Amino acid sequence: MDKGTSFGIPTKLETDLAKMIVGAIDSVEKVRLVSSGTEAVMTAIRLARGCTRRDKIIKFAGCYHGHVDHLLVQAGSGAMTLGTPSSPGVPKDFTKHTIPLPYNDSAALQKAFDKYGNNIAAVIVEPIAGNMGVIVPDTSFLKTIRKLCTKNKSILIFDEVITGFRLQYGSVQKLFGVEADLTCLGKIIGGGFPIGACCGKANLMDNLAPEGEVYQAGTLSGNPACVAAGIATLKQLKLQKPYAALNKLTVSLCKQISDALKKANVPHTINQIGSMFTVFFTRRPVTDYNSAIRSDTTTYAKYFTKMLNAGIYLPPSQFEACFLSTKHTKKDLDKTIAAVIQAISASDIK
Ligand code: PMP
Repeated sequence: MDKGTSFGIPTKLETDLAKMIVGAIDSVEKVRLVSSGTEAVMTAIRLARGCTRRDKIIKFAGCYHGHVDHLLVQAGSGAMTLGTPSSPGVPKDFTKHTIPLPYNDSAALQKAFDKYGNNIAAVIVEPIAGNMGVIVPDTSFLKTIRKLCTKNKSILIFDEVITGFRLQYGSVQKLFGVEADLTCLGKIIGGGFPIGACCGKANLMDNLAPEGEVYQAGTLSGNPACVAAGIATLKQLKLQKPYAALNKLTVSLCKQISDALKKANVPHTINQIGSMFTVFFTRRPVTDYNSAIRSDTTTYAKYFTKMLNAGIYLPPSQFEACFLSTKHTKKDLDKTIAAVIQAISASDIK
């Protein structure tokens, strides 16, 4: 910070972070840093539309891609919690090119491509959904998206604002064997400071201004303090390789929560992958937006309050993910389990 915190042009640190991202994700050759996940998505969508000269965007119900107007359509996260998945304040005209489809539904996607094929600029997806609670996709669903995008010359955008560097060093694209054309990052790559990144293949990224015609700019983009925090975080992740241990800890926590809920006869489904998980109060599998909203959110609200009173801060919404971090210890987890047992012993959670 002594050297200055805002220059309005790229700094060496920004290039260093970009190189780390390029080195970590096979499908990424170039990186444009911005100041939030929302901006990363805005940039990716504009770029996809600019490169394809098409208008339509496919998104999936329950996925959240930031608070950009035209993606607040059947959006997850806070919008889903507040019952305003299509927010007031967004003119209908702004969303007329957004096609919302059910998550994990390859047939619906095929139908949409049959209908709009050569007008679909991009498909944007959370490759693991974290904003309707955690939902792990069928690998075949992601592979179908890839196949249909390639066939129809549409751009595949993976919104990895949550999953980037969280489940492994880099993206989850390797995990599923599916490569995105553009990847959006945020959160972890700024180590807790404001940041986002739109990145991908050079032939697409070269279309961004000033090299190309698709406009994008931001006074604070690639801010040196944020970038320094991001570099420090990625260095630690590379050094510590915490992913296997975090997964083990999360599996153990979820098993203990499930055992406690079973013992108390509370119907539940826990979705977990790596350090991400969600407890849904339903017996049925939760695989998409509809099954997520059918879970018992009244019980979740009671559970949240009781856990908070016991000193454990869960996501305030059923439709957000729990994350374990490298800072959580076994002691923290023991405290969490004790709080769960206490919370569900309350007569009104059953
Ligand atoms: N995409 C996803 C998948 C997200 O989870 C979020 C934020 N929760 C965003 C985009 C938007 O990021 P930001 O809040 O940094 O604008």
